[in-house]
Amino acid sequence: MMKWRSNRKPYQGEINFDSYKDKFMFLLIKGEEDECWRMDIGLNIDPLEKYNHFSWRDPKTSKTKTYVARKVAYEVFVGEIPPKMMLMPTCRKLGCVNPKHIKVVTRSELWKEYNGDENEKSERS
Ligand SMILES: [Zn+2]
Repeated sequence: MMKWRSNRKPYQGEINFDSYKDKFMFLLIKGEEDECWRMDIGLNIDPLEKYNHFSWRDPKTSKTKTYVARKVAYEVFVGEIPPKMMLMPTCRKLGCVNPKHIKVVTRSELWKEYNGDENEKSERS
């Protein structure tokens, strides 16, 4: 059993969800509180490194939209994302959806984090 796969059947995409948050919760593989959390995408790649999007089809309008998993994780577990703010994974794993690993930053803070040479990262616990 690969570490990032859950025990249930791989997601086939036929299930209707009332909201994108419901779909997020369905795909979520919660780890320990301080571990990185992933989405189960049913593929043989580790979603932690690459996967940060999922799509949801609105059963009312039949329109499909793509959502950034990290943003939805923040909305579900923390609350509304402050206007004009960005979310940064403090663990630097693109696909991580553990709200404890998500930090709200400004655009310039985000830029500094990835382009500056300071290695200090703030840990909130
Ligand atoms: Zn993480």
